[in-house]
This record gives sequence, C-alpha cells and structure tokens, in this order.
Amino acid sequence: MIEIKNLTKDYGGHIAVDDISFVVNDCEILGFLGPNGAGKSTAMNIITGYLSATKGSVSVNGYDVLEQPIEVKQEIGYLPELPPLYLDMTVKEYLNFVFDLKKVKLPKGPHIEEICKLVGIKDVYHRLIKNLSKGYRQRVGIAQALIGNPKVIILDEPTVGLDPKQIIEIRNLVRMLGKNHTVILSSHILSEIQAVCDRVIIINKGKIVADDTPKNLSNNLSNDLSLSVVFEGEKEEIIKALKQVNGIKTIDFVKEKDGECEFNIEPRAGYDIRKQLFDTASLNNFAILKMSSNSLALEDIFLRLTDESYSAEAIKRSLKTKKDKEEK
Ligand code: ADP
Repeated sequence: MIEIKNLTKDYGGHIAVDDISFVVNDCEILGFLGPNGAGKSTAMNIITGYLSATKGSVSVNGYDVLEQPIEVKQEIGYLPELPPLYLDMTVKEYLNFVFDLKKVKLPKGPHIEEICKLVGIKDVYHRLIKNLSKGYRQRVGIAQALIGNPKVIILDEPTVGLDPKQIIEIRNLVRMLGKNHTVILSSHILSEIQAVCDRVIIINKGKIVADDTPKNLSNNLSNDLSLSVVFEGEKEEIIKALKQVNGIKTIDFVKEKDGECEFNIEPRAGYDIRKQLFDTASLNNFAILKMSSNSLALEDIFLRLTDESYSAEAIKRSLKTKKDKEEK
C-alpha cells in the first residue's frame, strides 16, 4: 500500500505538486493522468525517493520515503519515462548488471530467465540493446524494474512512442503485473487508463481534480450531458415544440432521414428533461423513436476537469464528431 499525505513540491517558487493526498491499495492499478506539466513525474519521483518533497509524507508498504529510503527502493520497481538503458550492452549483460546493482538475493540465472519470459524478451536476450525496437527496449526497461522482485511498480508513460501493436502488448503486460503488484502508471493516452486501470487520479496544475474508477467518472460527469433523441416528425415543428420545454438549454439538430429527425438536446443544469420530452412529443403527435444519454469518453471528462474554458459547446462538438466517426 502506498500512502501519500499532503504532498507538496515547491521548485523555488513554482509549486509543481500542491498538497495532494491519496492511498493506493495492494494490487490496484492506478492511472495517473494529467496534461504536460501537471506534476505527474514530480509526484512519481518523490514516491520513488528520487526527489525530496517540500512538505508532506509518502510511505510505501509501511516504509517512510525519507526515513527508510533503502527499504522503499527495495519495494519499488521504477520505469522512468526514458528507460535507463545502456545501449552498448546486450539484454543479458544489462539485466545481470542491474541484478548485481540491486544486490538481489534470489538465484540469478533462474530469476532473470523468469522475468525475460514474463515480459517476452527471451528471443532478444543476446542482442545489443541499441539494435532493439522501441517496444522491445520498453520491455527491457520493465524487466529492469522487475529485477528486484518489487511489490510496487511505477511506470512513467510506458507506452509513449510505441506503435499500436506494441501498446496493446505493454497494456496486457501491465494488466498481468497488476494481478500481484501494486501499479502506478502515468499516461496522457487516456484510452489506456480506461483499458488498464482500476482507478484514475486526474492531476492538473499540481492538484488532484478527480479520483475515481474510470466508469464512475464517466457516469458522474455525464448526468447533465446532452441526450441524443430521434423523433418521427417534421424538423421545424419539432424544434418549435422543444422550444417550449423549460429545462432545455440547447437544441442541436443532427440529421433528418426518412421522416426521422435526430437532435442532441442539452438540459439546463440539474434538470431531468426526459419526461418533459415524452410529454411534449405526445402532445404534439410526434413519436420518440430513440432517446439515449451521450456518455462522456474519458477524453471529454479530462478536458472538462482540467480546462475551465472547455465549454459545453466544445464537448457537444466532440461527442458529435465521435458519433459521426462511429457511423462511418
Ligand atoms: P508532468 O510529469 O505532469 O508533465 P512535471 O512533474 O514534469 O509534470 O512538472 C511539473 C511542473 O514542474 C512543470 O511546470 C515543470 O516545468 C516544473 N518542473 C519540473 N521539474 C522542475 C525542476 N527541476 N525545476 C523547476 N521546475 C520544474
């Protein structure tokens, strides 16, 4: 378990991490999400003991980062954004070197072999690291993080620069590691967090702006989101009738086909307009053929939480674009 209490990092007047607190439970995969400069790497570097905090405390499986730094480092396997690889070594030489450096007490040959099997680098074991693809280098970086047999794994942007196939492979690997490790993973590739993590912490300007499961975040924020409604009837008549509904903020026409008109309708904050829509349709004799809530993708949630200027209009536009893409 990792416990972070009131953590602050002040880089000489610039507050990079601002009084954040959270707990990561055993065998939880936590996604750390935020725009560039949000403070993710700073927080991760403090948790791993590479940076000192200005205020606050971090404990990893009961060891305090400041008071028991060696024990903390033994608990953690860390893959920084740029994997610390020696390009002129072979994978074998490098992993043996890391094993010795970390003074691991397990039987060397079998332990390294097991890790190579786990991360899928057995085929390249005798190759020079400089001749490996980015995906394989990343796996060697993960192998390096696993050498000390840590209970906690911290991965800073592990899929940056990888191709889609490599991304899927690394995601599968992270999921597998999460079965018996506590994992913190930072990313700005948001679908990754959705695909891999049990929980997501969104950080912006050094502060936590959300802490929840990807599913809850999406549900909570979509309460006041627009509805996609398909009516049977004449466009202008429908719009005229909808304008009488008190709880509607905006009516956005999407398309008309074979006498069916589709709209995105955004309610005013706090209004549930579904019943009113039904009553209005019934009163004016146009049937509702479909009504569904436009759920938010994590991308939209992220923009909502981290950018105050990101308007409802922009969210609606992005939903529309997404829908158009799906239809194509
Ligand atoms: P992220 O990993 O989310 O991109 P960082 O933790 O790297 O964010 O950076 C957070 C903020 O702290 C940024 O504004 C960055 O410019 C600043 N920062 C990072 N490292 C230093 C440093 N060594 N000295 C001064 N400012 C720094």
